[in-house]
Amino acid sequence: MALLPILKYPDPRLKTVATPVTQFDDQLVKLTKDMAETMYEAPGVGLAATQVNVHKRVIVVDVSEDKSGLIVFVNPEIVQASPDSKSYEEGCLSVPGIYESVDRPDTVRIRAQNVKGEFFEIDCDGLLAVCIQHEIDHLNGKVFVEYLSQLKQTRIKTKLKKQERAQL
Ligand code: ZN
Repeated sequence: MALLPILKYPDPRLKTVATPVTQFDDQLVKLTKDMAETMYEAPGVGLAATQVNVHKRVIVVDVSEDKSGLIVFVNPEIVQASPDSKSYEEGCLSVPGIYESVDRPDTVRIRAQNVKGEFFEIDCDGLLAVCIQHEIDHLNGKVFVEYLSQLKQTRIKTKLKKQERAQL
């Protein structure tokens, strides 16, 4: 297994729309293992392949406290979303140190495939619902800060640039 470098906002590669996975092979298994390791190491509760510069529709999520709840979503789709929305303070491994509230449907039903290509459906609520919607956005080239006002987005970019300079 290997740790993968995570792209940082506003890297233009984060705007890439990921393509569906058609090959359910060893390479896919390796990718999901590396992504899980990278997510746990960060640490984070979700990671989309887009964030590690692999533009395939693959997501890993684990919202458990003890790393016991890993779910791999290949080609995930939202098949049902509740009309009620909820605001949740989100963060992102590609936008370090920034936490902002975003409104999203409260519960969603996701249809996806596992690494073997088998289809499954899962009803998500709470943090899992927030996380999976956030990660599917990544596959569509969208970062959560894009839900915020232009002014806030500009401030975030400035803050991240300063952080980057401080690290050099
Ligand atoms: Zn993210």
